[in-house]
Amino acid sequence: MPGIFDTKIEFLRGVGPQRAALLNKELAIFTYGELIQHYPFRYEDRTRFFKIKELNPDVENVQVIAKIKKIELIGMGNKRRLVAQVFDETGEMEMTWFKGIQWVQKKLPAGAVYVFFGKPARFGNKWSIAHPEMEPLSSANEQRNNFQPVYSTTEKLRARFLDSKGISKIMESLVQACLPHIHETMPAKLLQQYQLIDKKEAIRQIHFPTQPELLHRARKRLKFEEFFFLQLRLLLMKVTRTEKFKGQSLGNTELLTEFYKNHIPFELTNAQKRVIRESFADMKSGTQMNRLIQGDVGSGKTMVAFICMLIAIGSGAQACLMAPTEILANQHYEGLKEFADMMDLEIEILTGSVKKSKRKIIHEKLLSGELKILIGTHALLEDIVQFQNLGLAIVDEQHRFGVAQRAKLWAKNREYIPHVLVMTATPIPRTLAMTLYGDLDVSVIDELPAGRKPIQTVHRYDKDRLKVFGFINEEIKKGRQVYIVYPLIEESESLNLKNLMDGYESIARAFPQYPLSIVHGSMKSEDKDYEMQRFVKGETKIMVATTVIEVGVNVPNASVMIIENAERFGLSQLHQLRGRVGRGAEQSYCILMSKYELSKEGRIRLETMVRTNDGFEIADVDLKLRGPGDLMGTQQSGITDLLIADLSKDAPILTLARDAAQQLLAEDPHLSSTENAPVLRQVKQQKKTAVNWSRIS
Ligand code: ADP
Ligand code: MG
Repeated sequence: MPGIFDTKIEFLRGVGPQRAALLNKELAIFTYGELIQHYPFRYEDRTRFFKIKELNPDVENVQVIAKIKKIELIGMGNKRRLVAQVFDETGEMEMTWFKGIQWVQKKLPAGAVYVFFGKPARFGNKWSIAHPEMEPLSSANEQRNNFQPVYSTTEKLRARFLDSKGISKIMESLVQACLPHIHETMPAKLLQQYQLIDKKEAIRQIHFPTQPELLHRARKRLKFEEFFFLQLRLLLMKVTRTEKFKGQSLGNTELLTEFYKNHIPFELTNAQKRVIRESFADMKSGTQMNRLIQGDVGSGKTMVAFICMLIAIGSGAQACLMAPTEILANQHYEGLKEFADMMDLEIEILTGSVKKSKRKIIHEKLLSGELKILIGTHALLEDIVQFQNLGLAIVDEQHRFGVAQRAKLWAKNREYIPHVLVMTATPIPRTLAMTLYGDLDVSVIDELPAGRKPIQTVHRYDKDRLKVFGFINEEIKKGRQVYIVYPLIEESESLNLKNLMDGYESIARAFPQYPLSIVHGSMKSEDKDYEMQRFVKGETKIMVATTVIEVGVNVPNASVMIIENAERFGLSQLHQLRGRVGRGAEQSYCILMSKYELSKEGRIRLETMVRTNDGFEIADVDLKLRGPGDLMGTQQSGITDLLIADLSKDAPILTLARDAAQQLLAEDPHLSSTENAPVLRQVKQQKKTAVNWSRIS
């Protein structure tokens, strides 16, 4: 049913076909509904009047009430300008015009008192405002206490008098036309509980604020609403999922207990225990688990994964773990095989390079149920890979897989969808996790195993290279190993390789006595593995690599990570790379190499790395630096389409909105009560236009 909000903007008073076409093209605004959501991006404070004496270099636009002393034309040619000397009881200043001189000259008689508005600049010993906005002083504007909205617009729109003021003008007719049709979308109970103003008032205030306090509340209300419906959609998906898919109840802890009593090589951290408890509760609950485990590098996710596998296997099911690269899959396999052997459980690895004859055996043993644990790359997604009863599917570094791939994993058990655990070492700020993974339950391993020495991170310039080489030599002499990582230069594959090869050669020259490994993206995977294995075994002392070693690789004896051109890496990548060291008992180091001149952001990134080892703190800085739009996975998610709320700034509101959405669904999971009817309508309405959220989980 097309309502007023679907009306084309050309029918709005003051718009018409030509301006409408321009608004379509320049701002992608087509309908009343879209225009009314073109919220101002800031407001100019017209509540305050400055005295001339109060002007200072820090002020932005200001209002000054001043009397005109004299007006004169100064200068010749293109320096010709009109200057008005004005004053108030505290001092004198100038207003200057370079254009429209005749028009201004006529308008401003000496002796008149005006309200001038603009950004003052200091010239010589006087303040001056060029091309101020101005109005004769009247009782109306002297007592004006409003914030004037500033709308984003474009050059082309300005040329059609749709500057911020022009847009504000058409908003008047728009808001007037729409106001009677704006209905409350939030339940009264929540409005009251969170002290939110109603929608009508919020829309009116956001475009035409009457008081700073009300404007503030209007903004809060609209942000809250935006987050609320976002969270509601995500949580509703979860409701649907848990109702649609029954989960296999896996609650037997016999194997786990045996492992825990007799074999576990270390005491679990409290965080590991908590996450295992959370997963266990899901697995035995009878509904399907869909859980994300976030844990900083080295926090011990693998052991958590193994213990969950033991729960599944002990309860009669099988488990698999999928990793994004062959190197990682191998490493998981080797790590887990040690534990599986202790427990007499069959474990296999399936990757692209596993021979056909071997594959056949794996396929058969999976079907018969003899094989309990399968580790692999996406090779395990192939249709031919069928389990007798897959109970638990674990995905490592899940952001590297597409949703289609994960869906295939889900389909590996006909009767019940397997429980799914996804693990990531890329910490995302809580606010973002809530939104990106709103459909997943999130567990966080926020504690490192005891006895780890924090990695010492330093920043060195290229000119210090000799000293750095000296340090490398010292460490290797102590028996340690070293990574040296080069950036991927996206524009050019060949430049990449050259950069790496140049580095490799200079290192080979500097350390002729040590065997080196090299790994990069264009090598065949068996060559990569070969080189990697030599390094793992300690046969080579230095690993020269591109970021292919970023994820997951575990060589406890490596104690130094050198990152070349560190300014070219993003924060989360730097943190991932650093996580390759500090895995053993020795003190580890990360050395960030860069050129001397750095961009402001580059410098903040390196300083952050030097200051902290905390992945979540780093992720927060990253979010602030880049905004949510650039963070992993956010592009597809559409959370960049938020109109007024801002994930990096409005986290407290997001948390409240999420609570509110949860509370609402706990009481009314299908929004079927009459009082929630408007909420349901809004959800359905947004579904039509919104991005497909199911792509994200
Ligand atoms: P990540 O979370 O990065 O995948 P891993 O699972 O690879 O971390 O664990 C890193 C290292 O810490 C491994 O060598 C692992 O055996 C060890 N580890 C894991 N949990 C503990 C613990 N509770 N106490 C001591 N060492 C642990
Ligand atoms: Mg890992």
